[in-house]
Amino acid sequence: MTASMTHADWQRLAGELTYETRAFIGQRFVEAASGQRFPVINPATGEQLAEVASCDNADVELAVRHAREAFERGGWSRLAPGKRRQAMLRLAELMETHKHELALLDTLDMGKPISSSLGDMAGAIGCIRYNAETIDKVYGEVAPTGEDSLGLVLREPLGVVGSIVPWNFPMMMTAWKIGPALAAGNSVILKPSEKSPLSALRLAQLAQEAGLPEGVFQVVPGFGHTAGKALALSMDVDCLSFTGSTGVGKQLMQYAGQSNLKRVYLECGGKSPNLVFADCKDLDAVARNAAEAIFHNQGEVCIAGSRLLVENRVRDEFVERVLVHAETMQPGDPLDPDSFMGAIVDEVQHKRILDYIRQGVEEGARLRTGGQAVSPIAGGYYVAPTVFDGVTPQMIIGREEIFGPVLSVFGFDSEEEAIALANDSEYGLAAGLWSQDIDRIMRVSRRLHSGQVFVNNWAGGDMTVPFGGVKQSGNGRDKSHHSLEEYSELKTVWMSLNP
Ligand code: NAD
Repeated sequence: MTASMTHADWQRLAGELTYETRAFIGQRFVEAASGQRFPVINPATGEQLAEVASCDNADVELAVRHAREAFERGGWSRLAPGKRRQAMLRLAELMETHKHELALLDTLDMGKPISSSLGDMAGAIGCIRYNAETIDKVYGEVAPTGEDSLGLVLREPLGVVGSIVPWNFPMMMTAWKIGPALAAGNSVILKPSEKSPLSALRLAQLAQEAGLPEGVFQVVPGFGHTAGKALALSMDVDCLSFTGSTGVGKQLMQYAGQSNLKRVYLECGGKSPNLVFADCKDLDAVARNAAEAIFHNQGEVCIAGSRLLVENRVRDEFVERVLVHAETMQPGDPLDPDSFMGAIVDEVQHKRILDYIRQGVEEGARLRTGGQAVSPIAGGYYVAPTVFDGVTPQMIIGREEIFGPVLSVFGFDSEEEAIALANDSEYGLAAGLWSQDIDRIMRVSRRLHSGQVFVNNWAGGDMTVPFGGVKQSGNGRDKSHHSLEEYSELKTVWMSLNP
């Protein structure tokens, strides 16, 4: 099958899929020790897809033991980086071969449109390849000593890494974590979200096929308060790399403090401002981008451009244009390659989004479009693209991460006001800036409290640049060679010599 697959092709492929539903511990697929399972629901239809092993303490302890043993054996941790490179490239190749299946698993699991899942697969595979290709080009240092000594600065893997990931980009977030962690030589235990465990389990099959040694990559599906918490409290996990909400990120830091002071890298939530100045080049193109920035992936994106800040001179016209584009982005069947938006991940998130919308109306924001649930498929969870104008920083919808297709529009008159509005947030993940004035672009970019600033684009970037936040959006950096640094430790070896 090719990238030009039709709606009917995807439906047929979905009907033929089988699911791996067991945990991957050691080198075996196993049920949870407790025998417990949890249901996996397709949010596009509300129907159950499968029941997956629900891991808890006992399973995580076993996985940690395998991971530690693998690390100490050295079959991966001490393998020449060039050999790790080969194994990871084989994994990337297998992911490429099975990309339609992996994409479909994510779409069925969490409701995103299939075209978007295919884009995620390209990103995930590219990430595994990038890290594989980078690891045998990383050098240590020789310290500037006198002749009577030799100081070596080596980079060594950390040991056992627990990766806890969310459901909004299941395979891509997984790749961003395991790519650098594995390349650096660590043993990795992946805890996928309980809302999207299926692609991670398929990935475990592929890792096995690619020849990753026993205990080097394991998957423990389960809930946050069981499997996730057990990983976070383990005395033998050296590092937690987490993507998810700020609230859970704070808990993980506490768990690290209560246990073994493991390193904790956090990629958390956001309420990202998108600043549109009146001098931007093509108002209509910018309006389309602004709509995509919030409605892509149903707004379930950490860097969703959820706060649109528009210079008041062009605000009315600009908002009208955003409304026109929003109209073309209505949710549809996630298996239809033409759907721009799919289903909301589950009933809980669906209700949460609708509650925020109700609050926005009550707070006095002007609802310009959307604001209600829609039903392209009966039984599924869908929300229409929603735009509120006249939002103020005091309003809850202007401050909190909604994680749904809800845009809050603010107006500003001056650059200073725009910067102050943009920075008035507990988050600092991403910001957008649309202008033709290079002096303004540099001035404003530098003053935005944000891990990344997108200038005349939204969500631009590739594997060559780091991704992460400041403030309560977290402290970690995914992607680029900087992410490799997070998964290794500096070691000094000082030798006395007889010159
Ligand atoms: P979440 O925090 O609810 O869950 C994330 C993961 O943490 C899941 O695997 C979950 O099972 C686990 N978890 C939950 N409670 C836990 C606990 N007590 N101990 C250990 N693990 C626990 O987040 P979510 O709803 O899955 O994802 C949405 C959030 O993720 C949003 O806030 C979004 O902004 C954020 N996100 C951030 C980025 C980024 O790069 N900054 C990217 C994607 C998503």
